[in-house]
Amino acid sequence: MIKRAILFGGKAIVSALDTTDTLNKAIEIHGFSKPVAVAMGKALTMTAFMSGNFKGAGNKLTIIIDGNGKGGKMVLCGDYGAKVRGYIENPVACAGQEASVSDIVGKDGALNIIKDFGLKEPYNGLSRLVNGNIDEDFAYYFTASEQLPSAVALGVKIDGGKCVKSGGIIVQPMPNCSEEEIFVLKDIVSNFTDVGDLLTRMSISEIIDFYFGHFEISRLPDICEDYVCSCSRERIENVLITLGKKEALDIVKAQGRIEVGCEFCNSKYKFTKDDVERLFDES
Ligand SMILES: [Zn+2]
Repeated sequence: MIKRAILFGGKAIVSALDTTDTLNKAIEIHGFSKPVAVAMGKALTMTAFMSGNFKGAGNKLTIIIDGNGKGGKMVLCGDYGAKVRGYIENPVACAGQEASVSDIVGKDGALNIIKDFGLKEPYNGLSRLVNGNIDEDFAYYFTASEQLPSAVALGVKIDGGKCVKSGGIIVQPMPNCSEEEIFVLKDIVSNFTDVGDLLTRMSISEIIDFYFGHFEISRLPDICEDYVCSCSRERIENVLITLGKKEALDIVKAQGRIEVGCEFCNSKYKFTKDDVERLFDES
């Protein structure tokens, strides 16, 4: 769930996210180790935040976090309405060990965000990673790449292989927000040192009221984020069609059939020789 409110009569927006169910779905699909679950929880929270801000139904984004860490590359996608999904190269990195988010993500690399608004060219933003902790990396991205000096506090609490709480608090000033107001807002967000723990004590709605209620706030509509994959048999069929009939049949000959797995949800799509022939007869 994402709750949002406008502050100072329109000069900034605070968003509070509870992505616990979303992360638990991801853990169920990918079997993350505990350190990876924390890193992916933070990354999915940011993906939900950014895709939750989309205004057009076809808008979508891809986030690639590649910091040369133990988890390898992270790829996250978000569709309009905060429908998110993601995967990481090594989902069981540092299993049974104490490892920080920076260890999983790495510090040596970049955060790349591609936003597709259905225009000719997608918007492509790139910034270096600050420390691989995700909070600071996104805060820096918003400041450097989108000129929105934002404050980001994320947190994930994992217990017994499950997510107890995952979420974040993000404040984004509008261009008319004064430096003093930005300073005050960043100062509040800097107090959120353990968001996972905070979320076990307060709901996201209570967090907004308690910490931001005195800034003449007005609420925006809630958004229901969720882990949703957009893959389908039809999409895979289209990929096979691009491949060409001969290529596709060669794979069937070599492997007995074509099996394509979705990295985001682990769905397996299988095509027999008959399926392939039917596909090309129809197309
Ligand atoms: Zn899928």
